Amino acid sequence: MKFRSIAVAFLLFFLVGVAAFGRILLQYDEKDRLKDIFDKGNYLVSLIALHPLDDFDGNKRDFFLRTLTEYVSSEGLAYCLIQDGEGKAIISLAPRDLTSRIPLDIQNRSLSTMGLTSQSFMVGGKDRPFYEFAKPIFERGHRAGTVRLGFEIPPVSLFSMQRISILAMMAFLIFAASASVYYGMGHALHPLRKLYAELGPSFRGSGSQPAGSGRSRGIAGGIRSLERALAGLKEALNKTESENMEMAARLGVATFEKNQIYRIIDAINFGIIITDIQENVIYINSYMINLLQTTRKEAVDRPLGEVLESDEIMSFIAQQDSLEKTKTTSHMETMFPERSPGEVFQLSSSYMKDGEGAVMGKMISVRNITSEKSAENVQQEFIGNVAHEFLTPLTTIKSYNEMLMDGEVGDVEMQKEFYNTINEETVRLSNMVQNLLNIVKIEMGSLTLATGLVKTDWLVGDCMTAVEGAAQGKNITVTKNLPDNFPSLLGDKELLKTAIINLLGNAVKYTPENGKITFSLQEENSMVVFDFIDTGYGIPEEDLPHIFEKFYRSKDPKIMEEMGSGLGLAMTSQIINLHGGEIEVQSAVGEGTHFTIRIPKEDYYIGKK
Ligand code: ADP
Repeated sequence: MKFRSIAVAFLLFFLVGVAAFGRILLQYDEKDRLKDIFDKGNYLVSLIALHPLDDFDGNKRDFFLRTLTEYVSSEGLAYCLIQDGEGKAIISLAPRDLTSRIPLDIQNRSLSTMGLTSQSFMVGGKDRPFYEFAKPIFERGHRAGTVRLGFEIPPVSLFSMQRISILAMMAFLIFAASASVYYGMGHALHPLRKLYAELGPSFRGSGSQPAGSGRSRGIAGGIRSLERALAGLKEALNKTESENMEMAARLGVATFEKNQIYRIIDAINFGIIITDIQENVIYINSYMINLLQTTRKEAVDRPLGEVLESDEIMSFIAQQDSLEKTKTTSHMETMFPERSPGEVFQLSSSYMKDGEGAVMGKMISVRNITSEKSAENVQQEFIGNVAHEFLTPLTTIKSYNEMLMDGEVGDVEMQKEFYNTINEETVRLSNMVQNLLNIVKIEMGSLTLATGLVKTDWLVGDCMTAVEGAAQGKNITVTKNLPDNFPSLLGDKELLKTAIINLLGNAVKYTPENGKITFSLQEENSMVVFDFIDTGYGIPEEDLPHIFEKFYRSKDPKIMEEMGSGLGLAMTSQIINLHGGEIEVQSAVGEGTHFTIRIPKEDYYIGKK
């Protein structure tokens, strides 16, 4: 029973479907035919009207008659009338009974039209209209005649091969659609069917039960079943609702996460542009907006090339596309002179891929590498300086040594002098290496201070001994202002000695013969203060800001005459800093120089700890 009703419904659905489609097909067919006739009519009438009237009367007449006759048999032309200015027929290719039945108003309109006209009319007894197309034939600017063509829409053949095959195909599609609708409905209606099955017997009642009680029990049972079914439906609804809520929550989390990621990318200190697969910008962070002097609104949705406005970068990105295939990555250095003049940036381009590795777009990142570049330059300059400074004593040592070995220096005194120079240069070289090592260690933070109690009287004594010889050699007077009670320091005695000897040594080195040096030591506000005052050449103002830099030496010829590496003051200032102290300089060219160092006193130092 159930199956039969489904089958009947299905068949009905199928038939209605096929009939509806057949109807639509017919309508379209009709429209198609009409359009076809209009195309043909307009074309043919225009073509014929191009010819002068004589063509249809003279030796071309046969040709036209033949062509038009063929047209009549193959393309559905019902009649062709070519008439002169007075309406007299020159060519009349038509069944007589048809032309005589064309309504007069149609004829008149065709004969008076100045352009192309098309009009339809019915011939008694026929249910399909004729279409007449008419166009004047002009000769030397005057209307010489008229071409009139009549078409009839041929009756629709219901069972053409094309129609049958389309209908068959549609029937199959409707069948398949109905089957899937039936299957889908079956699923969707399952709870209702279940409800019907449960309610059915109760509402139908049972013939075998006593009418009153059976009916009320049936209704009560039915209500219970209905309640159960409604509870089931409610549960299903609740489940869907909670699933929806979960999905909404997940979407919320995903959106929040995406926004968080965008916020993070926005805050980072380099530029990011993300594009889709067509290289249209979908995201740009604030850094990049600043760099390109654009706005988010202006940049988003625009092609990357228009946003970056740089052929150089675009050609790099295009080049990256081919490199990506071989998994090679590289970066380019570029500049954005309008926004950040003098700054150097590193730009990289990479593909954004989804979990399966499919390309979703590109990411362009830009990083400011100006400081790295200048650090690189400083490092290169440093290496250049070291090489240069080492090369000078090494060349002297090498050439003096070669001369001695080749026996070129015969005189014993001369030989002694050569050996002395070699020795001096070797000491200088080894001091340089030592200083350099110390500087590098201090800068890298890897120098460990051999900290101990340093008695300043011992320190001063050691340092003075180291320079006294050189001072005497230049007849320089060294005055010492020392306290009665020498304070103590907590520090690395050897390093402090190096610092003080450097300053005393410079004072002797850069003071001409017969000059004066004053060395003072005193205690001042919990600091031990050392002063080194000389009456030497002085330091030019332009050199003062640089004298503590590594390898810096004054270009003054008198200074250049003296041996040096430009490392002494760099080292000294580092040592003083390491001991928590400070170094100062005052100088006047031609008058002399005054260096002061202040180092925290031992007890103060301990107190601070
Ligand atoms: P060096 O003495 O080996 O050249 P330093 O680092 O000790 O290197 O000194 C750096 C530069 O500072 C010197 O080349 C010199 O130009 C200047 N200088 C340092 N001390 C004096 C001083 N007492 N008098 C004049 N110039 C000085």
